[in-house]
Amino acid sequence: MEKLNSVLLNPKYKLGANLDGWRAVGGGEGLLAALARPDEILSTLEQSGLRGMGGAGFPTWRKWTAAAEAVGDEKYVVCNGNEDEPGTFKDRHLLRWTPHQVIEGALIAALAIRANRVVFYINPHQSEGLAEMCHAVAEWRDSDLLGLIETVIGRPVCLTVTPSSGRYIGGEETAVVSWLEGGFPFPRRKPPFPADKGVGGLPTLINNTETFANVVHILREGAAWYRGLGIGNAVGTKLFSLSGDVLKPGLYELPMGTSLEELVFTHGGGMLDGKAFKAVFTGGPSNTLLTARDLDVALDFDSVRSRNSRLGTGAMIVISEGTSIVRKVAEYIDFFAGGSCGQCPSCKCGTFQMARLLERIATGSGSRDDVRAVDNLCAILPGSGRCALIDGAVTVVESSMRTFPEEYGL
Ligand code: SF4
Repeated sequence: MEKLNSVLLNPKYKLGANLDGWRAVGGGEGLLAALARPDEILSTLEQSGLRGMGGAGFPTWRKWTAAAEAVGDEKYVVCNGNEDEPGTFKDRHLLRWTPHQVIEGALIAALAIRANRVVFYINPHQSEGLAEMCHAVAEWRDSDLLGLIETVIGRPVCLTVTPSSGRYIGGEETAVVSWLEGGFPFPRRKPPFPADKGVGGLPTLINNTETFANVVHILREGAAWYRGLGIGNAVGTKLFSLSGDVLKPGLYELPMGTSLEELVFTHGGGMLDGKAFKAVFTGGPSNTLLTARDLDVALDFDSVRSRNSRLGTGAMIVISEGTSIVRKVAEYIDFFAGGSCGQCPSCKCGTFQMARLLERIATGSGSRDDVRAVDNLCAILPGSGRCALIDGAVTVVESSMRTFPEEYGL
């Protein structure tokens, strides 16, 4: 595990297994700073440049400002811990090992937008993280810190831990709202955005687990400190879930803007069996593939975007020379087909059809017509779904066909 520059993964935080332990290693100081100047929380976040770590990279202060300005007698803050996409394993680590870090960040959000309901929405498949969060939340319910927040907000603050559906699509923020209202996690059209009309029609701020964890340190150490952690124009640090054909797969916290080459070859120890680097599926396998030509790319939202891909969750699934890209893409599309909620016919049918065709191509039994059919689906499916699942699935297929046409017999 990389220790330099560790903020969220600082080893001392593991000692904070209970709330007293967390406060003994500096926990609670971010919240106390926020309580001292609650009206400055949003401007501090704006100055910090923090962006959402769940995949979209949306400026956090803007989302929080929308929820703060929304009119509502009651408001929700939801910590999204549904993490389920292939190759991403950062939030489960935070939930299991530093639950108080996450809770404190969510409570700072409640203070900032004056929310009286805070929900920790956790994937039940991450049973250890779920258990730790239940235990940790129970401690916060009785804490003096919660009492201080309630004094500022002027009403009791209700903390709950809610298992999510455990489905991939359950992490989409409107699906979070559907589930918390007691329904199947069907994504909904936006607008309205949850910040305006979320759970039960109330303003609802939904952020990723890693995003909330960062807030604690920004409020404690200041926006300038956080900006200074990044490289170049990038700010802060990022949790990278490194997996695939590398010698040292694992979770790495590195400065935002660290190069792909440094992640793979320095921290990840290089390629397995001395093979050549072929490609990487970034940010959950629903983005444009990066190849050896992109090893110099800085891993931050804007730099990866400039290569027509996306940083996403920070997952990096590395593929070596000799590994079939079509095989990997077929696996991921099969995952998306299984994860589709099924309410959009184009997504339900399109992902299953693509998975079927790709499986044939990957096993060598596909025909030229199968490849043409995949190509055709890539042309007609984008934009046809209620959420981004179908577009993400098409992006990775299209990217693999364009980058490795020989593997499709093109
Ligand atoms: Fe569900 Fe797919 Fe439609 Fe998204 S695009 S709402 S996953 S059917």
